[in-house]
Amino acid sequence: MRKSLYIFSLVCLFTLLCMQSIVLAASDIATIKNLRISNNSDKVRIVVDADKEVDYQSFALSSPDRVVIDLSDAALAKNVKKEIDLNSKYASKVRVAQFKENVVRVVVETKVNKSGYDVFGIVGGETPYRVAMDFGNITYNTVGNIGNISSNSSSNSNSSKDNSYKVDKNFNIDKDAKSILKGKKITIDPGHGGSDSGAIGPTGLYEKDSTLRIGLNLAEMLKQSGAKVYITRKTDTDVAPQPATDVEELQARVDVGNKTHSDIFVSIHLDSFTSSSAQGTTGYYYVNGSSNSERLARYIKEGVIEQIGTYDRGTKTSNFYVVKHTEMPATLLEVAFVSNPREEAILKSDDGIKKSAQGIFNGIVKYFSEL
Ligand SMILES: [Zn+2]
Repeated sequence: MRKSLYIFSLVCLFTLLCMQSIVLAASDIATIKNLRISNNSDKVRIVVDADKEVDYQSFALSSPDRVVIDLSDAALAKNVKKEIDLNSKYASKVRVAQFKENVVRVVVETKVNKSGYDVFGIVGGETPYRVAMDFGNITYNTVGNIGNISSNSSSNSNSSKDNSYKVDKNFNIDKDAKSILKGKKITIDPGHGGSDSGAIGPTGLYEKDSTLRIGLNLAEMLKQSGAKVYITRKTDTDVAPQPATDVEELQARVDVGNKTHSDIFVSIHLDSFTSSSAQGTTGYYYVNGSSNSERLARYIKEGVIEQIGTYDRGTKTSNFYVVKHTEMPATLLEVAFVSNPREEAILKSDDGIKKSAQGIFNGIVKYFSEL
């Protein structure tokens, strides 16, 4: 009797352990919940939504040309569409299937070569994990010649009236700045753009126009100093292929910094408040950011205040997406309040734009001079 009880307990224990391991194994499998497509003139983006982080491998096959992405330890949800036409000149079709017991395979029929596609994982946003696949023109905006920048004013109701803008290339850059900045990789992110005007001032100034003008001046100065400059947008445009969620739009900006392995990331914005008396300049960095991020935010903010004489609102921590998800020291600068008539005038004038760019530039030079 005693012995059989003993055996019974052992069997129970064994069964329990087995169940436990089955439960563990099941929870290690990521569920592929959705396949989404977005398009712009530059590229087609395929996004795979997963409920947790998933390992993937990609490789190319020929005749017909296709790119295969294998997601391991993954299960395809039943409701996911198995085949989608892409309607893009870069890729014609995408198929997805449960290829092996634990492998979900995505196959993209494409005509692009190896430098024409890119596969990368994205943590965070509205799904826990995404694998993005871009086909088409996947190079990032490096700053070459900035000529006359004009935006598509006729079709876009979000554009202000005068939005052609020419960067005056006569900057006085001293030798020290050039030796400090030579070869540094810098991503500039002019806030908002395209469908998103950002805040609007009392006389109708759009945040997206000022941030672009400041960003283009800054890019030109940095380029003339020998830095390698990347800019998330050079014109009045959204950065992510459309349609895109707000998070995807911000992630597209973060991608430019992360994928170019930039040394710093500088996002340019204008502040706004319901009361027109709110004023001043703020430098933000990520709440868990490094001391370098704090210095970068502080020096840039101080540089701008020195140039345009604004009130010092300090250096503050925040959870802004672009400072949180960038992998290098990063700052989001609120240059001044577009909702304040006096500051709006600064942010509208050529002189104010140039000085703002000069201030950011000086902060960047100071930052690198101390590394
Ligand atoms: Zn903004």
